[in-house]
Amino acid sequence: MSHKDTKLITGGRDPALHAGAVNTPVYRASTILFPDVETMHDGSQPYTYGRRATPSTRALEDAVCELEGGARTVLTPSGLSACNLAIMTVCGAGDHLMVTDSVYGPTRLFCDRIGKRFGITTSYFPPTATAAELAAEFRPNTKAIFLESPGSLTFEVQDVPGIAAAAHEKNIAIILDNTWATPLYFNAIGHGVDLSVQAATKYLGGHADANAGTVTANAAYKDCLVETHGTIGLTLSGDEAFLISRGLRTLGLRLARQMESALVLAEWLQGRPEIARVIYPALRGDSGYKLWRRDFTGAPGLFSLVLNEPDDKAVARFVDALELFGIGYSWGGFESLVLPVHFHRSFQSAKEEGHIVRLHIGLESVEDLRADLAQALVHLTA
Ligand SMILES: *Cc1c(COP(=O)(O)O)cnc(C)c1O
Repeated sequence: MSHKDTKLITGGRDPALHAGAVNTPVYRASTILFPDVETMHDGSQPYTYGRRATPSTRALEDAVCELEGGARTVLTPSGLSACNLAIMTVCGAGDHLMVTDSVYGPTRLFCDRIGKRFGITTSYFPPTATAAELAAEFRPNTKAIFLESPGSLTFEVQDVPGIAAAAHEKNIAIILDNTWATPLYFNAIGHGVDLSVQAATKYLGGHADANAGTVTANAAYKDCLVETHGTIGLTLSGDEAFLISRGLRTLGLRLARQMESALVLAEWLQGRPEIARVIYPALRGDSGYKLWRRDFTGAPGLFSLVLNEPDDKAVARFVDALELFGIGYSWGGFESLVLPVHFHRSFQSAKEEGHIVRLHIGLESVEDLRADLAQALVHLTA
């Protein structure tokens, strides 16, 4: 029962409560009725109002919470709102927040615009900074450190347990955007994270058809998370919660297959003359490999290529020539995607990276994907 592969299947399900239905069905409800005034006031009824919970949302919360090994999970309408909720749970006016420079771009915008407007000061640190280097930057009012390990474009792996230990000495909270590894491949709470964030839109949902986010707190931050989530009024529809729950059941299978294909393709691409470097922590020789080996139990199928050809037009020819890789944002679905990366924001660590193309490896045949990449690479130099 305690293995995560089993939890993926059993978590958040109770068919006896839902006419025997195996997966908790979609509940659409705003108003939920009480049988009498006493029940309305005594708090004994599990569901009171749709915004707060329905059986569909509770089922997903419980499943994710069990996987994360946390004290409580809440749902949000997107991964971005989950990142921002975690920050708002911990930080307020006058506080200092430290954020990895490789953070998801829109999270950075939230800090620089909304966070600033509400009196939170954000500073950014290089994603490869050690725990000691970060500790040297702590200020008396530092309240939280926001990590993303690895960053979802440049894939720097961070020493999460080391940073957490240094932070906790000063009562500083650790927030981790754990979307890449998912709770299956990185045990966030077990490695000292206080608030673990998932863009459930990506691997948890797995089918590119729903936006959702989750924030899971350990015991210390549980009450503050629930209070902040409820007071802001964040909620996820029963339809979306159902889709994510449904996707969750096959997470283990999908990730295993995507990792297997990604390793084959990353190793093959590494040997190609058009490619300067493949950035994928699961590759021996990657700068993040040692930390990845120490802390992670797998690597999903998302990695980047640094191309030798610096010309924008050539990169566009390569990307346009791909047939099985759709050009689009997001990742984590069953289908392969490609994203040419332009660092238009102040992303220090990426400045010298040159031209990066991010690949999301889907569930197609790995031989077909390799053939597609091979025919498209020719267009880089043509
Ligand atoms: C996509 C993504 C998010 C945001 O998720 P949305 O559902 O698109 O809001 C947050 N963090 C990371 C690392 C992501 O890749």
